[in-house]
Amino acid sequence: MPPTEYEKMLEAFALAKNFLREQIELGFDEVYTQVKTKKTTAQKEDRRAVTNLGDFYQQIKNCKKCHLYRTRTNFVFGVGDPEANLMLIGEAPGREEDLQGEPFVGAAGKLLDKMLAAINFKREDIFIANILKCRPPENRDPHPDEIETCKPYLLQQIKLIQPKIICALGRISAQVLLETKSPLGQLRGKFHDWNGIEFLVTYHPAALLRYQQYKKPAWEDLKLLRKEYDRLDV
Ligand code: URA
Repeated sequence: MPPTEYEKMLEAFALAKNFLREQIELGFDEVYTQVKTKKTTAQKEDRRAVTNLGDFYQQIKNCKKCHLYRTRTNFVFGVGDPEANLMLIGEAPGREEDLQGEPFVGAAGKLLDKMLAAINFKREDIFIANILKCRPPENRDPHPDEIETCKPYLLQQIKLIQPKIICALGRISAQVLLETKSPLGQLRGKFHDWNGIEFLVTYHPAALLRYQQYKKPAWEDLKLLRKEYDRLDV
């Protein structure tokens, strides 16, 4: 028998309760409810004329420019809306990402999804990529030569996607893109100008899984991100 309206309502309440409990556990103390309108078709088509992220993927997916291709399972290009106004940029694929060919699908990715939900974004609304497209063995930090080799791919993705806001997840992504050695604590919590694009830095979700004390400032960053996104009215 199909569920009654009452049963559907009960299920919706249970889902909402679960969601709120998770948000509280994450340290979030507000619920973001604003619903944004989608871009018009004309706006999208305008962008499509100069965008061909799919072709770019085809061009680079078999990359062998650095030795990481020898140990990768998948080249992790990035995922999301090719016309996204918001891009999140992490460090490099981990084990799960290498296996599945998609960024942030492991434990840190699950937390990232919850963080996004807390500010009313879905993965499909944005574009997620990494500094490196291939997993460094044992999840070690990317080496400078790997970063130099791979970074042009990310720069080209940014050029094609034309986001209005970029959010760097973690120290490595922030330092590589901002070309600085400043610690994350100094870089986060404010917008930087990155070639005319609003650029925010926040903690890497993996760090949030390890260190409880970063949750509160990360939540402040997320609220800032949402506020700026809404202010730009994109
Ligand atoms: N950590 C990252 O920085 N990127 C991923 O895709 C997964 C984990």
